[in-house]
Amino acid sequence: MQPTDRIREDVREFTPYAPGLSMEEIKERYGLARVVKLASNENPLGASPLVKRVLARKADMVFRYPRAGNPALVAALAEAHGVPRGCVVAGNGSDEIIDLLVRVTCRPGVDNVVAFAPCFSIYVQQTKLCGVELRQPPLGPDFAFDLPALAGACDAKTALVFLTNPDNPSGYAVPADQVVALAKSLPPRALLVVDEAYVEFADPEADHSMLPRWGQCDNVVVLRTFSKLYGLAGLRLGLGVMPEWLADYLLRVRLPFSVNLLAEAAGIAALEDTPFRQASLETVLRGRRLLAEKLTGLGCRVYPSKANFLMFAPPSPQCGAADVFKALLGRGIIIRALKSYGLPELLRVSIGNDEENDLFLAAMKDLVENGC
Ligand code: PMP
Repeated sequence: MQPTDRIREDVREFTPYAPGLSMEEIKERYGLARVVKLASNENPLGASPLVKRVLARKADMVFRYPRAGNPALVAALAEAHGVPRGCVVAGNGSDEIIDLLVRVTCRPGVDNVVAFAPCFSIYVQQTKLCGVELRQPPLGPDFAFDLPALAGACDAKTALVFLTNPDNPSGYAVPADQVVALAKSLPPRALLVVDEAYVEFADPEADHSMLPRWGQCDNVVVLRTFSKLYGLAGLRLGLGVMPEWLADYLLRVRLPFSVNLLAEAAGIAALEDTPFRQASLETVLRGRRLLAEKLTGLGCRVYPSKANFLMFAPPSPQCGAADVFKALLGRGIIIRALKSYGLPELLRVSIGNDEENDLFLAAMKDLVENGC
């Protein structure tokens, strides 16, 4: 017997989640003193000053368990989003909410889940782990949502439909009215999970988010994260807004302290720090306009984006996506190659702060003009 014979057969073929490369790895590999990371769509201004002060004060309390269910955080989230407290579930990143939704609603070997191809890898991974069929209609031309195709892939056994709006990795987004229409067109069992990880950048958010329309549909779950605009990726905090009957079941099965004491305190402080969020948003919107204009000027094909990143194709054949990615790494600039999304000819760059954007653009100009 091999030791790994103890592992479930379907689990043996799993590969781990492929995150962006770490800054330490790149520094070491290329002997660089400074590295610019524009790979994981993190906040370009770092962490909120208010959050840092609250975390320092809270450090004394880390020997205590957090309160199960994080009532203070849930109350603050419900208030901030104008939804009832009973509809909010906080999680260890929105990843945890995705995992819980699949495990709570999908019957292994019976139900199916529907999401566009390509989609965020955690939908694929957790569905597979649960032994549930994943149906993936393709995106339309230029990564547009083919919403009739998404609805058309559903049947009476569809438990969940995932829609990422704005989408990752393209940045494509639709107004929320179209999402409401999609929800109303689904079969009775199906729940529509609208992943709004990037919606704060959709400018205007109110036209694209389902939260201001809460109550219009009884089969919708909205996912939000603190990893992007709120600058808390390292603390792991996300949330789901969902019908109360569903929230009740997620809370029954989840591990009791998955949102830790520091994440809870940081989340409440981050909600209060409106000036930091405003500055972050302005930095991203300004940077997005600049990067789109300059990359287009260099001959790249830039896809319109409503998120805090841009997807683009470099002007091959002088310099293909893989060459550009590698050449940038050698200069200490980490962006995201989209091979793992099945898009080897495309790259994704997170919008950085002004200095990071300038460094990236200068390196791109040099590569395009002088070769990789
Ligand atoms: N959904 C999408 C579409 C994402 O891109 C991400 C972040 N990579 C997440 C969810 C997960 O966010 P979190 O850090 O809250 O787990």
